[in-house]
Amino acid sequence: MKKRIAIIGAGVSGLTLAQHLKDHADVVVFEKARGVGGRMSTRYAEPFYFDHGTQFFTARSKAFQRFIAPLIASGLIAEWKGKVVTFQADNTLKDRLWFEPHYVAVPHMNSLGRHLAEGLDVRLNTEIAPLGEKHAEGWQLLGKDGTAHGMFDWVISTAPPVQTVNLLQTLLPGDSPLHQIKLQGCFTLMIGFKTPWTKPWMAAKVHEKPIEWIAVNSSKPGRNKDLTSLVVHSRNDWADEHLEDDLQQTQQTLVRQFEAVTGIACDKAEYLSMHRWKYAIVLENEKKGFHLDPERNIAATGDWASASRIEDVWLNAASLAKAIVEKIT
Ligand SMILES: Cc1cc2nc3c(=O)[nH]c(=O)nc-3n(C[C@H](O)[C@H](O)[C@H](O)COP(=O)(O)OP(=O)(O)OC[C@H]3O[C@@H](n4cnc5c(N)ncnc54)[C@H](O)[C@@H]3O)c2cc1C
Repeated sequence: MKKRIAIIGAGVSGLTLAQHLKDHADVVVFEKARGVGGRMSTRYAEPFYFDHGTQFFTARSKAFQRFIAPLIASGLIAEWKGKVVTFQADNTLKDRLWFEPHYVAVPHMNSLGRHLAEGLDVRLNTEIAPLGEKHAEGWQLLGKDGTAHGMFDWVISTAPPVQTVNLLQTLLPGDSPLHQIKLQGCFTLMIGFKTPWTKPWMAAKVHEKPIEWIAVNSSKPGRNKDLTSLVVHSRNDWADEHLEDDLQQTQQTLVRQFEAVTGIACDKAEYLSMHRWKYAIVLENEKKGFHLDPERNIAATGDWASASRIEDVWLNAASLAKAIVEKIT
């Protein structure tokens, strides 16, 4: 009989694991959000769309290049090309060079998650509660609302570190990097105009706090170019200092700096909102790839185990899947 594997989280890690494991086991993916993709996500505010998490990804390893090649051929992934600039301290522009292709999913960043979820048993709107005692038949998965979701031989968490520690609790060794690694926060400002973008750049780095990055989301391939949708990210250290501040005030601070830097007034914007990422990206890590406990049949992976890059989480998930297949077949 095939082993039953529960994967917690339907981001790139969880969906990649599930794709690699589905021919070897009965796999169910549990996701607390109402859609797949995790932090590789898209805010729908029709007619505007904002990729408010992952901005782009690069492909440096042969394995990941092989994975994306057919998706580039089918049009699901495309290179994002154009002028990238730096806003210097005096707000003058300096050109930046991208030394490798920068890819995006088409038509939205969450399209890759949707593609990875095809053919999988994904249970959305299902937040899993911390694991209890292991039964003779395996792990019983309970929802946070108390609903029983069945017995599983293996449980793999791809939730961010704080949430994985909460899910697995004493099942993790005391010296696990999961206890130490913290994800930094980020605020994402989303601004929409019903007119086309006319400036020569499509993305910009900003060196003065609090803003770090501005993307003309509508300049990405496959997006509606009759509109302008802008995604503005705060610096992560600034976000951590202001995570619990009044959200309206934080939004005002970011809007004011955006206006000062770009000269674009937001009072004419058709759409303006902000998203707070409490857990956005990891800066430090021990490059372990994954946690695997073959005694208890517990595992975990995610960007905490390498770096906050889509390619890295994909590679971590592929290598964890390989290690689990070796255990169960
Ligand atoms: C603002 C921002 C900008 C970024 N920019 C880039 C970039 O430009 N390039 C790049 O390569 N990477 C970027 N990243 C990093 C990248 O998005 C992440 O490294 C990657 O998406 C992590 O994927 P994951 O599947 O490991 O985790 P996640 O995407 O976080 O997926 C984990 C999932 O677990 C779910 N979950 C958590 N707890 C539970 C529970 N108890 N029950 C059920 N489900 C649960 C969550 O809802 C989530 O969907 C960025 C991230 C952010 C936030």
